[in-house]
Amino acid sequence: MSEVASKTVKSGAWLIEETDPAAVFVPEHMAEDEQQLGAVAEKFVVERVWPQREAIERQEPGVHKKLLQEAGELGFFMADVPEEIGGAGLSKKACMRLAEKLGLAGSCAPAFIVQAGIGGLPVVYFGTPRQREKYLEGIMAGTIGTAYALTETNSGSDALAAKASARYDAARKCYVLNGTKQFITNAGFADLFIVFAKVDGDKFTCFIVENGFPGVSTGPEEHKMGLKGSSTRQLVLQDVPVPEENVLGEIGKGHRIAFNVLNIGRLKLAPAVVGGAKVSLREGMQYAKERKQFGQALASFPLIQHKLAGAAVRIYCAESMVYRTADLIDQAIAGIRAGGEPDAARAAVLALAELSVECSINKVFGSEVVDWVVDEMLQVYGGYGYVQDYPAEGRYRDARINRIWEGTSEINRMLITGTLLERAMKGSIPLLPAVKKIADDLMARRGLEEAPGGPLGPEQAAVANAKRMALFSAGAAAQRYATDLDQQQEILAWVADMLIWSFAMESALLRTLRLAGERTEPEMAARIAAVRMAVEIGSEQVENAARLVLAATAGGDELRSMLSMLKKLSRREPVDLAAAGRTVARYVMERDGYPFA
Ligand SMILES: Cc1cc2nc3c(=O)[nH]c(=O)nc-3n(C[C@H](O)[C@H](O)[C@H](O)COP(=O)(O)OP(=O)(O)OC[C@H]3O[C@@H](n4cnc5c(N)ncnc54)[C@H](O)[C@@H]3O)c2cc1C
Repeated sequence: MSEVASKTVKSGAWLIEETDPAAVFVPEHMAEDEQQLGAVAEKFVVERVWPQREAIERQEPGVHKKLLQEAGELGFFMADVPEEIGGAGLSKKACMRLAEKLGLAGSCAPAFIVQAGIGGLPVVYFGTPRQREKYLEGIMAGTIGTAYALTETNSGSDALAAKASARYDAARKCYVLNGTKQFITNAGFADLFIVFAKVDGDKFTCFIVENGFPGVSTGPEEHKMGLKGSSTRQLVLQDVPVPEENVLGEIGKGHRIAFNVLNIGRLKLAPAVVGGAKVSLREGMQYAKERKQFGQALASFPLIQHKLAGAAVRIYCAESMVYRTADLIDQAIAGIRAGGEPDAARAAVLALAELSVECSINKVFGSEVVDWVVDEMLQVYGGYGYVQDYPAEGRYRDARINRIWEGTSEINRMLITGTLLERAMKGSIPLLPAVKKIADDLMARRGLEEAPGGPLGPEQAAVANAKRMALFSAGAAAQRYATDLDQQQEILAWVADMLIWSFAMESALLRTLRLAGERTEPEMAARIAAVRMAVEIGSEQVENAARLVLAATAGGDELRSMLSMLKKLSRREPVDLAAAGRTVARYVMERDGYPFA
């Protein structure tokens, strides 16, 4: 636990406060015991999952179930479960390391990630003692495979519009469920489904449904673009009697379970894709070293090096934000417990809810980073990237789903901005005074002082200004549209882009500042170059998004005046991306892959 554990953690605080690098957790400082389970998972994936790749891709009967049980025996599904109820009670940092390593499992990864997340955790977080007693041991052991069934054919993003119904049968003391759930991961081998259905047509409720209950069946496997080794089917419920003791949580409160569980799902997706992106980078780099054109290895060409560097830089940002966020959640849990919450599972739910914006930021950024990486690594392979004999083709297809499930990128972007603004309006985060101060400072030409010294001084100034640009333009839009802002989806998404990139850049910057003096000179030089690249790429995104927000907010003289204020914040010398890219790429090649953790 880092030094600031006692402080109350507030979502979005990083946006309005300056963060001391010493207060930020970096993965390089992860305690040995926190890394241990991740190391076990990596070995398991390499020795047990990869050799069975073909059987997994064919979804050979029994293969997933067996692997799930082996993973359970190794303790992967008890990591997140509090000790009080029989789990390992590991920190969120350790759980993220585990998710990162499970993310190496290719198309088998969703089986593990669902079991360790949205499939298994509802019982942990919301189960009664009796429900936990009945199911938890099997979930943790991997002998009870789980799935999370929220989506329906006509309700995807609009999940609460579900039509699945639940009717109480007083004589049998059960609810009778009917409906069809769509695209359910693990459905082909799950023993237990977390199902959402409406009681009396309107009370959205969560149920624990055993596969063996009469009337439960699954459809055929979907023919997907990628993740061929992941089971995705419809779950069909026909007059399924679900005992009343299998209601999870309260009648009519299913949305709390659905959305709170998605917070952890979104967060865990980020380390899992970071793991996959690192593999993709290593493969692309190896190919670039081996393949020769014009008498030279591809890796000697600056444009190819720039792709390797671009991948490493984006992964560095994603990885930095994942572990920073995990530590914030650990701090929040500790704070909530210190405040008197006796139930560790409930404390985790509350902490995740507080940091739901950061969970969504991780999800959107991670899923877009992995797509960028697999796309550019495919390009490194040229025509061989387009054929199935090489791994790039499969990685490209497998990665694409991440921008869709666990809430699409569009929905998460709107949640990021919408939630922060809602909290600002309620006064639970002092965004409005921060916005006002920035506008006042800009008018009075205050706060535009020189960048601090040090090799990353300009980047520190640029990140501070990126946050100001986000606040300034969001504030202008909020003032212009007031309660109508939620109808301005483009603005919400552009503001989210600014927040996402600000958090990404800042996380990489703070991590690097924190490590100053601890690493070798060549490593620090590569990290500094990586941060320069990240801040150059990210600042451009932020500046562009801020301009778009202002242009959609004002016109004429008002717009010109706002743009001139924005200019003050975006004034910075561009970084030599070519030189920085070559420095990072050299280090990637020297270290034979992603070099920073
Ligand atoms: C392989 C796979 C596995 C899955 N696993 C599971 C699982 O285990 N459990 C489960 O419950 N679900 C699962 N899903 C479902 C997944 O979560 C949904 O596909 C996703 O939430 C999007 O819903 P949809 O497909 O109905 O798209 P839609 O909701 O129809 O969205 C279509 C497009 O419109 C956009 N859109 C929607 N609403 C708005 C809006 N208000 N404003 C602007 N844009 C909007 C979306 O962002 C998207 O781009 C899985 C899906 C796939 C493909």
